[in-house]
Amino acid sequence: MKPDHPAHAAPADAAARKAVAPVICYPVEGLPAPDLGPYLAAREGWTQVAEVRVPPREARCFDVPAGHFFRITSVEGPQVGDLNLWNAQDLGERFFSGKTRALHGTHLSAGDRMWSNLPYLREMALITEDTLDWYGFDAFGGGVHDVIGTRCDPYTHNLLSGGQYHHCCHSNLTRALAERTGLSLAEAEDHVHDVLNVFMCTGFTRDTGQYFMKASPVRPGDYIEFFAGMDLLGALSACPGGDCSTVHSSDQAACHPLLVQVFRPREAVAGRAAANGYDRSHGL
Ligand SMILES: [Zn+2]
Repeated sequence: MKPDHPAHAAPADAAARKAVAPVICYPVEGLPAPDLGPYLAAREGWTQVAEVRVPPREARCFDVPAGHFFRITSVEGPQVGDLNLWNAQDLGERFFSGKTRALHGTHLSAGDRMWSNLPYLREMALITEDTLDWYGFDAFGGGVHDVIGTRCDPYTHNLLSGGQYHHCCHSNLTRALAERTGLSLAEAEDHVHDVLNVFMCTGFTRDTGQYFMKASPVRPGDYIEFFAGMDLLGALSACPGGDCSTVHSSDQAACHPLLVQVFRPREAVAGRAAANGYDRSHGL
């Protein structure tokens, strides 16, 4: 938060310094926008091969083979989901929320990709459809499907409120991964990472730069769909914040399940994750 009364007086040329136009950090012209046509066409005659219903205030894991699609759908009522993705063959490679944000912006939609952590940095998944793409940014600066909000967790809750709450997305994801892999809770927790906040509506306040949330515009039937660029292990938590209109990290909010479906296209689609081309010599 910026102080209301800064300790230092503004210099004489403050207005000029503030008026400098911003430059996009990572121009993505070097990353050609994918042609979604072949992906959307590949859905014709696809076969659903798995379905997972994520209960409210819980998380579940799911597997998506490379070249398959997965879809997260709102059912029963507005609900936010926290998504983690791992390389199914190596949990050390996982979704890199920060670099995905640097490349694609604060909120993701169709055509954006979910990138993996260093030293991999390759495409884990491509978003092929988002029924909330009409939302864009509202008058508060809020958008949907953010990569800015990490995930709700019991440590922050304890820091701010002092309580013990066990159904934050961080804990839900930890329990689900431990159950799926046989890892201990402590081992599994190390693999839980910053999420894609599916359906969550968030932004930063214009005056103080604070992270805000507001009631998600998602309604039952809305979905976001992905194409897997590698064999993926996913985990999705139905956030205890429900539609995130008021509070999270408690059982107060109305919560609903989320549906995950995995589909195999009738014919294979190109688009597997290619290895990153950096030689990893780091100059030596
Ligand atoms: Zn949450």
